Amino acid sequence: MTRTLVAFHAHPDDEALLTSGTMARAAAEGHRVVTVVATDGDLGLASDEYAADGRLGDRRLAELRESAAALGVARVEWLGYADSGLGDVTHPDPPGRERFIRADIEEAAERLAAILREERADVLLTYDRNGGYGHRDHVKVHVVGARAAELAGTPRVLEATVPRDSINRALDLAAKIYDFPPEFDRDSFRRAFSARAEITHRISVRRYAAAKRASMRAHASQASAEGGADRTLAAFLRIPRPLYDLVFGREWFVDPARPPGGQVSTDIFEGLP
Ligand SMILES: [Zn+2]
Repeated sequence: MTRTLVAFHAHPDDEALLTSGTMARAAAEGHRVVTVVATDGDLGLASDEYAADGRLGDRRLAELRESAAALGVARVEWLGYADSGLGDVTHPDPPGRERFIRADIEEAAERLAAILREERADVLLTYDRNGGYGHRDHVKVHVVGARAAELAGTPRVLEATVPRDSINRALDLAAKIYDFPPEFDRDSFRRAFSARAEITHRISVRRYAAAKRASMRAHASQASAEGGADRTLAAFLRIPRPLYDLVFGREWFVDPARPPGGQVSTDIFEGLP
């Protein structure tokens, strides 16, 4: 049976790290895959080569389309919000667009729900309640995603996450052979994401490691700058291939509708009506 998967993300490039393997796998297995970003990522850190002309958002949406093509994604949508940026300062809204952190939850959820209804989505991917490592746009994706699925009657919401104990082990291993750049926020991984016991879905994506790498590589502007917790792509891309496949060979999700402690599913569509 052909299903429809909608992956909702905060910024262009978040899909690469968190859900690109699951997206590539679903597409390769013949399902329809759609990706939606809340913001155009216009406050992403990037070198002047990409950002000096003030058109970083346009460029990042183009990178998202390139990533989507590598993953077999059929449709890419942007909800029309601007990036809220890192830290606590909220920048003024750019002309004609509102920063996502200021967006009315019902209004934002309705924009996403319209796509979910049109697509008759079976599964919506969002973020765990920590918003992964805690970027406020990511926390908002969690809230807006949950509400949109409620409005549209989407049968399953899966919150993309990482078991923090295993990512910490992998990072400790990686640190033995690889120097993370000073701006890589190692500590953010010690308090972020989800405990292993909360995880309900563990998806093997090792066969799609090449697609995942291509997705990461598509976000060239985000590999260009130093600094920032969102600036990990460049570091990840320099991890040697066998280790990369080990670290990125699985993706994890929490189904908030399912009581924790049950058997972990290995297929995001399993058991759907
Ligand atoms: Zn992000």
